[in-house]
Amino acid sequence: MDRNTETKSMILKAFKKGYTPTAEELLQKLREAEPNFSRATLYRNLASFCENGKLKKVSVVGKTDRYELNTGCNYHLVCEVCGKIEDLEMAGAIKTPARLMDYEVHSHELMFYGVCPKCQKKRK
Ligand SMILES: [Zn+2]
Repeated sequence: MDRNTETKSMILKAFKKGYTPTAEELLQKLREAEPNFSRATLYRNLASFCENGKLKKVSVVGKTDRYELNTGCNYHLVCEVCGKIEDLEMAGAIKTPARLMDYEVHSHELMFYGVCPKCQKKRK
């Protein structure tokens, strides 16, 4: 494996289902194994993984972007307190229509905002 391939697989391996780090959180994790892991390399690879569909960027207004494995899930639960994001399996999920109001439609997303159980407990 050349160095570039090794770096890519190291980044992907850090992701597990339900792990939705910000780029900086991910960098910290990677630097535990490789203290000199370059920030520029990470950002470049994250962008290319999002382009080829391996990862997905989850953007929440007012929060730092997070990344997750692209499982094809378009529904998310967002904790407004700690920023945790969870995939939400929905029965009767909406199928992306090919066209809508003359738009050629590529994807859709749905976010539910609230407070996660951990943060609810801390509030009490
Ligand atoms: Zn929370």
